[in-house]
Amino acid sequence: MRAEAIVDLSAIKHNVALLKEKSGTNLLAVVKADAYGHGLLPVAKAALDAGASILGVALLEEAISLREGGITAPILAWLVQPGSDYKSAIDLDIDLAAGSIAALHEIQAASKDKKARVHLELDTGMTRGGFLGEWSSLDASDVAGLEIVGVFSHFARADEPAEVQNKEQLTRFNEMVATLHQFGFTDVKRHISNSAATLTNPTAAFEMVRTGIAIYGLTPDTAMGSSRDFGLRPAMQLRAALYLVKDVPAGTPVGYGASESTARDTKLGVVTMGYADGIPRIAKGAGVWVNGQRAPIIGRVSMDQFVVDLGPESKAKSGDWVVVFGNGSHGEYTADDWGAASGSINYEIVTRIGPRVPRIYSAHVY
Ligand SMILES: *Cc1c(COP(=O)(O)O)cnc(C)c1O
Repeated sequence: MRAEAIVDLSAIKHNVALLKEKSGTNLLAVVKADAYGHGLLPVAKAALDAGASILGVALLEEAISLREGGITAPILAWLVQPGSDYKSAIDLDIDLAAGSIAALHEIQAASKDKKARVHLELDTGMTRGGFLGEWSSLDASDVAGLEIVGVFSHFARADEPAEVQNKEQLTRFNEMVATLHQFGFTDVKRHISNSAATLTNPTAAFEMVRTGIAIYGLTPDTAMGSSRDFGLRPAMQLRAALYLVKDVPAGTPVGYGASESTARDTKLGVVTMGYADGIPRIAKGAGVWVNGQRAPIIGRVSMDQFVVDLGPESKAKSGDWVVVFGNGSHGEYTADDWGAASGSINYEIVTRIGPRVPRIYSAHVY
């Protein structure tokens, strides 16, 4: 095999159990974007096994894939496009988010035979989806015939726990929820916390938290703390086989544009993954772990391959496995390192691993 992402589902179970205990409330496991690149169905099952009460996805298609995969647990889809087939969603018992009066009316129209289950989304300061000004003109008729089961919002700066915006959003959330209570909807689940808030702000847990990145064992922000600091176990190891190892003299230009040359006589290794597999072309200062050592990228990342400087003493040979990123416990690069090397974040590193990379499920990653 040329490359694979090994996913340890026992790590995901550990993380879900830890977050559930930490929050002391219901946990929605966020499995959008193919479970952050880890594989939708295996992760969904592991999260439910470990105590998640509901699954969360962005798109209706993702929710439908879960149902087609045999998942019977509650599912919430929160980014359902106007004009979608709401009726099928309702028939499949998929909870729907609504953040505008127009969306509510569409759901009402599809809700004649069977009552839709709806979570109202509030814009408390993220300034993305959700009710803002329209909230004050919401009328009882706009929610008639719907089962309002939840009300939720999203923090913009939960990874900076000391930021005053977190407090402001919480205050706004409580004010907006009070309006809902005036309509008589007192028994709705309130949820606003993502992973960062779940890890740092227990007062925002309410009746449910929505955790994504942390269930995969990754920190929401390295400035907040590392995975290890939070007791999280990174679930994915990305690895690839060396295609070729070759000796080259000092001053040898490597790759497209000859952007870099060898600084000394050395051994180079060709790794069979490229930007088509999600290796960021822009990455500077990352590399692979091979035979107990870090070997940095040299030259530009190509579509299907990149080259690493193994060092003159390396014993690595073609066919050897190299770790692109892992949990870091042996000195290997992490998804955090790749994020930092690419001017990005671990979220983008794991979600962009391409479909050519098989996901393998094993508890024996290390
Ligand atoms: C993606 C997403 C989450 C999960 O965020 P993490 O930072 O990964 O925990 C929660 N809620 C909503 C609405 C999201 O879109």
